Amino acid sequence: MKFVLRAFSNGMDGVFIGGCRLSECNYVTHGNYHALTMVLLCRKIMEHIGLNPDRLRIEFMSSSEGLLFTEIMNDFGKRVNELGPLGKSEGIDGDELKSKVHEIEKLVPYIKMAKREKLASRLENEEEYEEFFTTDEIEELFHEVPSYYIDPDKCQACMICSRRCPVEAIAGGKNLIHVVDQETCIKCGTCFEVCPPRFGAVKLISEGPVPPPIAEEERKIARKTNKK
Ligand code: SF4
Ligand code: SF4
Repeated sequence: MKFVLRAFSNGMDGVFIGGCRLSECNYVTHGNYHALTMVLLCRKIMEHIGLNPDRLRIEFMSSSEGLLFTEIMNDFGKRVNELGPLGKSEGIDGDELKSKVHEIEKLVPYIKMAKREKLASRLENEEEYEEFFTTDEIEELFHEVPSYYIDPDKCQACMICSRRCPVEAIAGGKNLIHVVDQETCIKCGTCFEVCPPRFGAVKLISEGPVPPPIAEEERKIARKTNKK
């Protein structure tokens, strides 16, 4: 999903994904099913941010179907030409579009986790494609975007979360209360999962504002020593 969004954020007018026929994948992973559900989700997200979903297409065919490939690519090229440069037929200007796509790109780990069960589905029937992800579902998905916050009264500076954060969004250090940089956080939820239950310092906030980070001078944790 990130590659697709990156292509749009780099100004591509259309993205085509071609895969082997469903159920003919040589690998046990059957990645073409996953690509299909990902594309269906991505198309709904495009609608949500005001982009025409026709700019993203997936098709399945075998390596001997050169004619079919030509027909599909001609058809796709024609449709993208009709739509014109990205954002033009949608009435969205370049900077606004870039920032919208960038915001979604940041949320890809959250989206993939929130929709993991549906993304893993194997759709055999084309009739299921259209309504597999609904508009209401996508609105709910973005309405409920979580934030992760470290409770300064509970953090014990064990440093597990800062080591595991994939984007270095947690400012940590020895004996320092850890703090999440909300701008860098991609909402993957790893810190929430790995903070030891006996500390339970990471909070998931799904509604309302995130409390401001603790002041730098208040981050030092005073440890008790056994010295007499
Ligand atoms: S949710 Fe936690 S681990 Fe994931 S990016 Fe944000 S701060 Fe890092
Ligand atoms: S894992 Fe929990 S206790 Fe440890 S540093 Fe992170 S927030 Fe603090």
